[in-house]
Amino acid sequence: MSYAALARKAPVVSTSPARTVSLATGGLRIGEASDTYEQEADRAAGEVVTAAYPRHQWSFSSVPVGQAWLQRQPDPKLDAAAQKRLDTFTIDAKDLSNPLVTGQLRSMSNSNLVDYKNKVKDGDVKRFVETLLTFSTPLQTGAGLDPLSGNLTMQIGNVNVAVKPDVRGARVKTADTNATFAANPPRIPGYDTKDGVVVNFPDVKTTVTVEIVTSYETGVSPEATSGYGRGTTADDLRNKATSLRFHEGSHGEDFIDFVRKNPYPTFGGKSGMKVADFEKEKTAYNKAVSDWGKAFNKVKLQGDCVGKTVDEYHKGEKGYKNICP
Ligand SMILES: [Zn+2]
Repeated sequence: MSYAALARKAPVVSTSPARTVSLATGGLRIGEASDTYEQEADRAAGEVVTAAYPRHQWSFSSVPVGQAWLQRQPDPKLDAAAQKRLDTFTIDAKDLSNPLVTGQLRSMSNSNLVDYKNKVKDGDVKRFVETLLTFSTPLQTGAGLDPLSGNLTMQIGNVNVAVKPDVRGARVKTADTNATFAANPPRIPGYDTKDGVVVNFPDVKTTVTVEIVTSYETGVSPEATSGYGRGTTADDLRNKATSLRFHEGSHGEDFIDFVRKNPYPTFGGKSGMKVADFEKEKTAYNKAVSDWGKAFNKVKLQGDCVGKTVDEYHKGEKGYKNICP
C-alpha cells in the first residue's frame, strides 16, 4: 500500500495518552485506553488467523533474538555478506540477530514469507519466518507456542507474557498493537490482627499476565509501509525494515523488553509483622504497582514517537492532540 493510501486510511491514531488505571473494581487491570476500535478488535475473536503450522509444543531458546542484539553497529562488509545470504536463502540462526536480516524478513508479504520458509534450510530460521505469518511480534528467545491457546508464551520473572495471533479484518484504523496486563491476586488480601500484629495473612505470590495482540484493518496488509514511528527511523530505513508488521511487532518487542527490564513489584508483607509496618509495606507496594502500570502504558510511545513521529504524521489534522513527549 502506498504511503498516500495509508495517510488517507489513518485519520485516527489509536495510541491515546488517556489510559486507564483501575484499582477499584473487580481486578487490577491496567491497559491501553480502550477506545471503540480496540474493544471491537477484541470482539473479533472469530477472525483470528489460524496458525500456519501444526499446534505442537515447541520452544525457541537457542537463538539470540530480541532487543539486546539490535544495538550493534552496522558494518558495510558484513551487511553485504548478510544481504547475500538473505537473498540466497542461506541465512542461519546467527543472522537472526542482525536487524538488516530480520527487518527485511519482517517486512515481507505473507506469500514471500511462505516462499522463504520453504526455501531456507536452517530450522531456526524456518521457525522464525513461519511465526511471522501469525504473529507480528517476532519470536523471542525463551518463547514457546502454547498448543492450547495458540499463543506465543514466555515467562519473564513473575510475569507470563502471551502474544496472541494477529487479528485480521479488525475494526482498527490501519493497524494497532494493544497490550494489557492483569495481576492475580489483583489486590493484597486481608488479614487479622492480634495485639497489633498481623496474623492469618496468606503467603501472597502475585503472578502477572501480559497479553499482546496486533490487529489489522480489513484490506490492510502487514507488508504495507509504516507511516510513522518504527519503520521510519534512519536505522529502520537502512535495514529496509519499513513495514506495518515491523512497526506493530516493534511495539510487541518494546512491551516484552519493558517486562524484562522492569520486574513486576513484589509484596514484602508477612504474618507476624506489626500492623503499622505491614501497612507501610502495602502502601509502598500499591505505589510501585501503580508506577509500573503507568510506565507500561507509556511503552507504546517508544515505537510511535521516533523517526517521523505520530504527531508529525497527524500534524494539522482537526481534533488531533499530540501524544509524544
Ligand atoms: Zn504504533
